[in-house]
Amino acid sequence: MSTIASELNLILLGPPGAGKGTQADRLREDFPLAYIATGDMLREARAQGTDLGAQAQEHMDRGDLVPDEVVIGIALERLSADDARDGFLLDGFPRTVPQADALSEEMANLGRRITAVLLVDVPDEEIVRRISGRRVSKAGRTYHVEYDPPKHPGRCDVDGTPLEQREDDKPEVVLARLKKYHQATSPLIDYYEKQGLLRHFDGSLPPVEVHDKIRATLATLRLEDEL
Ligand code: ADP
Ligand code: ADP
Repeated sequence: MSTIASELNLILLGPPGAGKGTQADRLREDFPLAYIATGDMLREARAQGTDLGAQAQEHMDRGDLVPDEVVIGIALERLSADDARDGFLLDGFPRTVPQADALSEEMANLGRRITAVLLVDVPDEEIVRRISGRRVSKAGRTYHVEYDPPKHPGRCDVDGTPLEQREDDKPEVVLARLKKYHQATSPLIDYYEKQGLLRHFDGSLPPVEVHDKIRATLATLRLEDEL
């Protein structure tokens, strides 16, 4: 039996459509981590018609990133909420070097540290195939019409709500998002590699295999932590 779990503060990094949300759904079943997905938070703000949603809208629809100061504000605020005290899973944040710097500074202020950055990588040509078949539930659970279908077509396995296609999952927007990823986000691979935090996963394997590999890595990290 393992001793009391040490805090897991994880970042999921990777291109749009690599499977970050899919792995997050599974990891949250394994570990009680606060899930912080800036894309979900921004979509929720839009659905509620808040100022934040209005600010984010045009950037998201074009496949651009929402400005750093806006995203940093919402992500860091969420990070200091009570339920994130014992560990968190960041999905889609940070996406730029200034965002990563802001996160490091906040972690230092809180006296905490990032446990690992999980890079889920997939070649560009696979991304378009994945995103065109992506369907999501209202609560943000992810499926694929072909690769990861729900038990009943068009309905979420967990809450039965209808599945939808995201507006920004249209092919022309996907290419813009992918370009942005290579320009602004992929430098974070080097950034976290240099800090010794990066763990690389082949996202072109089936979801269950990617999940198994991530779990094995996390088990090793926790053992190292206890030594
Ligand atoms: P994906 O499934 O492509 O990884 P997300 O749901 O994480 O997409 O994000 C959707 C959109 O929300 C992004 O294309 C971007 O416009 C905006 N967004 C989400 N997170 C960030 C962030 N950390 N910085 C800037 N923009 C963001
Ligand atoms: P991200 O959060 O990185 O944008 P998602 O988890 O939403 O990516 O995955 C994008 C699409 O690809 C979804 O429809 C999902 O069901 C599917 N998918 C995720 N992981 C895999 C995988 N390993 N193999 C095949 N399809 C996958």
